[in-house]
Amino acid sequence: MPGHAVVTGGAGFLGSHLCERLLKDGWQVTCVDNLVTGQATNVARLRDDGRFRFLQHNVSEHLELEGTIDTVLHFASPASPVDYERHPIHTLKVGTLGTHNMLGLARAKKAGFLLASTSEVYGDPLVHPQPETYWGNVNPIGPRGVYDEAKRAAEAFTMAYHRAHGLKTRIVRIFNSFGPRMRLNDGRAAPNFIKQALGNEPLTVYGDGSQTRSLCYVDDLIEGVVRLLNTDYAEPVNIGNPEEVTILQLAELIRDLCGSRSQIAFRPLPTDDPKQRRPDITRARKVLGWEPKVSLEEGLKTTIASFRGR
Ligand code: UDP
Repeated sequence: MPGHAVVTGGAGFLGSHLCERLLKDGWQVTCVDNLVTGQATNVARLRDDGRFRFLQHNVSEHLELEGTIDTVLHFASPASPVDYERHPIHTLKVGTLGTHNMLGLARAKKAGFLLASTSEVYGDPLVHPQPETYWGNVNPIGPRGVYDEAKRAAEAFTMAYHRAHGLKTRIVRIFNSFGPRMRLNDGRAAPNFIKQALGNEPLTVYGDGSQTRSLCYVDDLIEGVVRLLNTDYAEPVNIGNPEEVTILQLAELIRDLCGSRSQIAFRPLPTDDPKQRRPDITRARKVLGWEPKVSLEEGLKTTIASFRGR
């Protein structure tokens, strides 16, 4: 039953798509974002809707909101490796203190809580594909540690509030996703390659490009999140597209779809870059009846068209 939803990180890539979807489903939405990596333009259109409210605030700091709240969806965090290496302390704080604050808000309002977690909790995985039962292989002190460990702590906080306070909580482990509204300077593979291909600039492939990822189109991803929100399922659920490609294949596919003359330029592989990643979505299929509908190629075509416009 739609009511009042608070979406932290609501001006980000996924957050803004989520706000839009919740409004469409009949929710009243309060979007909270400090705009460190989110962009006010992502939600500019939503501001005409009387049921939408934007609040610029850093959720790592205490937040009090008046009135009733039915659910808190905690999506705030830098999420691109380039961003969390640029904002390591913000990243640690929003995953730990920010999660604690938002769980406290949910508890005070007798609201539900949904945590946006990540495939990064699996680190550089030694089990492939990754099921939710895998505990991961994370380097706590590497450059990715600030994100990986903050999200692992966020999951621990969430389960502790569930067990200690009986809070209705859900955890979605989000795998690589892409779509319109990703920042041009976001630093992740898909937006980098699209921007480079459209400019006929070299596509910067890190390492030899043999590392793999599995990319999920944003509409599929949001559908999975909404389905999870409508359950009482407290254990983590992977949401991602199991269609796995090497990064070199991704670069070449994007180049072809853009009709570009770009060369491939190999660059050093960043520290602790996971060698392989693919979600096992057996649980999402069973619990949510969910699986992705949009192929990588189809999703890329839509995304490229939106990037051309910019
Ligand atoms: N990558 C790349 N070129 C780029 C950006 C990223 O080869 O311009 C690689 C990166 O090293 C990683 C993969 O693409 O192996 C996915 O990186 P991304 O930043 O999208 O997110 P990650 O999955 O590593 O969190």
